[in-house]
Amino acid sequence: MSKNIVKCSFCGREKQETTVLIAGLTGHICDNCVVQAQSIVKEELSEKSNKNLSKNLKLNTPKEIKNTIDEYVIGQDEAKKILAVAVYNHYKRIMQKTIKNDDVEIEKSNIVLVGETGTGKTLLAKSIAKMLNVPFCIADATALTEAGYVGEDVESILSRLYQAADFDVDATERGIVFIDEIDKIARKSDNPSITRDVSGEGVQQALLKLIEGSVVNVPPQGGRKHPDQKYVHINTKNILFVCGGAFDGIDKTIAKRLNTNSIGFSSLKDELNKENMLQYITPQDLKSFGLIPELIGRLPVLTHLNPLDRETLRRILVEPKNSLVKQYVKLFDIDGVALSFEDATLDLIVDKAIEFKLGARGLRTICEAIMVDAMFDLPSDKQIKEFKITLRYAKDKLKKSSVNKLKVA
Ligand code: ADP
Repeated sequence: MSKNIVKCSFCGREKQETTVLIAGLTGHICDNCVVQAQSIVKEELSEKSNKNLSKNLKLNTPKEIKNTIDEYVIGQDEAKKILAVAVYNHYKRIMQKTIKNDDVEIEKSNIVLVGETGTGKTLLAKSIAKMLNVPFCIADATALTEAGYVGEDVESILSRLYQAADFDVDATERGIVFIDEIDKIARKSDNPSITRDVSGEGVQQALLKLIEGSVVNVPPQGGRKHPDQKYVHINTKNILFVCGGAFDGIDKTIAKRLNTNSIGFSSLKDELNKENMLQYITPQDLKSFGLIPELIGRLPVLTHLNPLDRETLRRILVEPKNSLVKQYVKLFDIDGVALSFEDATLDLIVDKAIEFKLGARGLRTICEAIMVDAMFDLPSDKQIKEFKITLRYAKDKLKKSSVNKLKVA
């Protein structure tokens, strides 16, 4: 008789005492034991992943982090150094949380990168992401609005990070977020406005809550918050925020500050590099630009990217691991054609990018204008095994292309 009573093989509960009893080959397991087993597995896995994290930590010293970024980003040494240290410390902080429990708590140092558009802010962030073993996402501040208005809620940033972390809350909580175009949510005027500033100060306030560390209800699939939706709770205390922005016109603010700052100015005046005022940026300038002091206070590391000069642009064309020249060579190589560029052609491409004031982004536009005919014709001509882009060829293609319309008056 007792042989026919079906029981959970783990806790011994009989079938009628359980909600679900799952049959296996030789035994049964009840819903209660499944839940318990799952939590044990989760704990074990998270311990394992923390151990992996500590193993990997040793591999990425600030110097090694910088060396890796060097393969993708040309110049910008100061920004690279500061980012490398910040990321390294970020790992250390996470380690401290998972390994040791003493009283000294390392606080995170969120970062602001200021630099003209196209100088490599996003590229820096992406290159770091490539070598990281923490989740990483890029968010655009221009899309954000205060809760309840048209646009994305600030929490959507965390939804993205949560997705990048494969829906793992623990991993999300030690991730890194890059917020691009932070300057676009600056307060429009210095007076706190009477009317609501939907896309400016309100968003800064919302962002502040996220950055300073709090438990946030995040819609797992992103999108707007919805009363019926289930949320995951994410603690942002250990998430590192890196913000980037062009801060158009801030050079004038800096110049003005340096000019009015009479003490010691006359001696400083000659040493100032007027071409690159961003290197003198201070948190005070961000405040004058329209970021609220509370937010600036939560972004303690401020660094700048230099404008790209002729020599840097020339290096960008050939040196990075996936430089434009290397990409074209590979594209042609797949068709069995050995592609090469005359040095003078590369100089021409750089000259045009400067002439059209297009920066590094313009290099691609100009290259495409030169290369499109060859890319169209060569695949159907099996005879050609070698192709050199001479200065004459490049000039001829550029003359005929619409790229000349990009010329600024
Ligand atoms: P930003 O975010 O500052 O506006 P990006 O990082 O998007 O600029 O740069 C645009 C493109 O220009 C990149 O995809 C890259 O090809 C090139 N680029 C810009 N700066 C650099 C640099 N310092 N080194 C290598 N490539 C660069």
